[in-house]
Amino acid sequence: MIPLMKPLMDEREAQAASRVILSGWVTQGPEVAAFEREFAEFVGAPHATGVSNCTTALHLALLAVGVGAGDEVITVSHSYVATANSIKYCNAEPVFVDVELDTYNMDPAKIAAAITPKTKAILCVHQIGMPCDVDAIVAIGKKHNLPVIEDAACAIGSEIQIDGQWERIGAPRGDIAAFSFHPRKIVSTGDGGMLTTRNPAYDKQFKLLRQHAMSVPDTVRHGSNQVIFETHPVLGYNYRMTDIQAAVGREQLKRVPEILETRRRLAARYNELLQNNLGIETPIEPANKRSNWQSYSVTLPERCDQRAVMQSMLDAGVASRRGIMCAHREDLYKNGWDLPNSEFAQDRRLILPLYHAMTDEEQIIVVEALKKACA
Ligand SMILES: *Cc1c(COP(=O)(O)O)cnc(C)c1O
Repeated sequence: MIPLMKPLMDEREAQAASRVILSGWVTQGPEVAAFEREFAEFVGAPHATGVSNCTTALHLALLAVGVGAGDEVITVSHSYVATANSIKYCNAEPVFVDVELDTYNMDPAKIAAAITPKTKAILCVHQIGMPCDVDAIVAIGKKHNLPVIEDAACAIGSEIQIDGQWERIGAPRGDIAAFSFHPRKIVSTGDGGMLTTRNPAYDKQFKLLRQHAMSVPDTVRHGSNQVIFETHPVLGYNYRMTDIQAAVGREQLKRVPEILETRRRLAARYNELLQNNLGIETPIEPANKRSNWQSYSVTLPERCDQRAVMQSMLDAGVASRRGIMCAHREDLYKNGWDLPNSEFAQDRRLILPLYHAMTDEEQIIVVEALKKACA
């Protein structure tokens, strides 16, 4: 069976976890602090905060920019449901705009018409690692005085070109970016998330709220030779990352350049193998964007039934996934939305296996299975 994804982990991650377990300090502590410093440096952000996953990161990001009950947040439906759910956590409502048909990311041209007096923020997504047009989105946000949060769950190592310079996603271009370390992403800590920002006040709030809004972190209390009584002045959450996760994450981070190089090579190889084949369309990477190829997704020709293609591939021992879901088709978000491009992306796109250890032979098996299914 050729799986969709396999995390790249070995003795290095196992030893890092073991070192922490034997150290006596297992939850958020020195390893989380070190991972935050290293992650911030990697993406070029002044501040980073480790949290339990990307969904909690998005929740804290929305709270930081002031999203609350009755507000609206402009986002895309074509994303994992966690994006829209994080808005609901604030008792606010997502307002979905459609995606573009090249990168399948938020169409900046659709934003202005979706703005109402209740709009409080824009939450854009760098879907499956392909950067969205974040600069255009930030320009619209500035014009309407709306903060921009980047759901960068899949986009560690993805890059955009700004004024001729390549820059990693997460510096961030918007106000805050949120990353995921779920095993379906290119680096993993089992579960985990990271927030990056240029704003020290946001960063301070993230670090407060992720730990029950405890006024004095336990690391400080533990290290003090004076008795300290902490307070909990506002509503906080337990959104901590553990030191075990962070130690694994530090090892994973060292591998990112190698992972990116391999994924880019594998994606280019798929493009080559799928050139001019049965109407299957390979993904578009605009000249000013570089995907990390968290997922490699093709567009099926109209005559092919997505489910039948997937079943035929499964029968041949090849896993695949349909295009990223649309939240507006779930009961929770159904509301007469008109999002044809998002629905096209879910129904006609197909995600193919791509993992670090994938061989040329395995890629050929995938392509042959796909071609047979489409023939
Ligand atoms: C995976 C994913 C999330 C959720 O990340 P978790 O770490 O699992 O909470 C959110 N948004 C997008 C776009 C994702 O792909």
